[in-house]
Amino acid sequence: MKMFDVYSVYDVELVKGQGTYVYDKAGNKYLDFYGGHAVISIGHTHPHYVGRLTEQIEKLVFYSNSVVNTLQDQLAEKLAQVSGVKGYDLFLVNSGAEANENALKLASFGNGRSKIIALKNGFHGRTSAAVNATDNHKIQASLNKGFEVEYHEIDNVESIITSLKKNDTCAVIVEAIQGIGGMDCITAEALTSISAACKEHNTALILDEVQAGYGRSGSFFAYEIAAIRPDIISMAKGMGNGFPIGGLLINQESYQAKAGMLGTTFGGNHLACVAGLAVLEVIEKENLIHNSKHLGGQIADAIKEIPEVKQLKGRGLMIGAEFDFPIKDLRKHLVHNHMLFTGSSKNPNMLRLLPPLNINPSHADEFITKLKAGIHSYMNKKATA
Ligand code: PLP
Repeated sequence: MKMFDVYSVYDVELVKGQGTYVYDKAGNKYLDFYGGHAVISIGHTHPHYVGRLTEQIEKLVFYSNSVVNTLQDQLAEKLAQVSGVKGYDLFLVNSGAEANENALKLASFGNGRSKIIALKNGFHGRTSAAVNATDNHKIQASLNKGFEVEYHEIDNVESIITSLKKNDTCAVIVEAIQGIGGMDCITAEALTSISAACKEHNTALILDEVQAGYGRSGSFFAYEIAAIRPDIISMAKGMGNGFPIGGLLINQESYQAKAGMLGTTFGGNHLACVAGLAVLEVIEKENLIHNSKHLGGQIADAIKEIPEVKQLKGRGLMIGAEFDFPIKDLRKHLVHNHMLFTGSSKNPNMLRLLPPLNINPSHADEFITKLKAGIHSYMNKKATA
């Protein structure tokens, strides 16, 4: 048997990770400014995380949601404490798509509607409803197109509000910083206006914080630039530092749980909860939200000085550096010649940076040095080709 070949991969086999570094089979050491696709929040194999997971594996890995699991309650408490988000209930799942799938479903349970407003360039995952709300027709199959979706520009609040006035929209789903779409940020004013209009027209506001949440943007959630209380917040990537876990924060004023309304076999299992707890404990102890904001700002300032970079987008340690040429080959060059992992986005010219949130100033310096050297040698190579 072979794998169903859907990914384009670098010819590198990673066998070890430690902090901000990953190592291949030959022992080569790479600086990870991709964070395994925004997943590595507290660094690879963080000792506290490894210790917590190891201890739990020896006790109990999994039992279903048919028995009491106080680790779920501990995770909910810790999340409220570290994020500062109060008055929400937690529902646990296994991935970002599943979080958004349940968020959209809950919104529809709430108001009985099915039309969704989403943003152009938004990405919400590949399950049926989540992919239908994603602005990428290439990844939608015909069976995914079961409800109407309207896509609006991120900076056109007026068109969203005009549409909401028809009183037929189930939910507005928004990434406060669009990850895959190209790091565009919605403004605080836009979020505030959309939130007010959603309330007025009985429409749910879903904040997709799968990528930008958990401290990546320099605040616990990226939407916190505005004083809003979304109906549902979806989370995943940074939540388990590589252990598959996702979740929904559900505003208690918006929804009441009913038995059987949502459900999952694996979501909220014992090991996943401990992974989630370990991440939050490290975020708190090591002050990683502050680190994300502070070092993210320093890295952004240093990138601005690079002449080949035309524009910077994002916040905190979610940085988009836009070049005036497609970065596909540069990215590959950085991996193979400068031992540096970075990310990409739908914008072919945008390098997306998503390092672990516990990088230190010397990692930031090392990154800038590698990036500058990488751009220089890449340009030379291109000029002589
Ligand atoms: N939402 C956002 C904003 C994402 O960036 C992603 C994945 O990249 C998803 C949802 C889907 O998450 P997953 O791949 O865990 O299903």
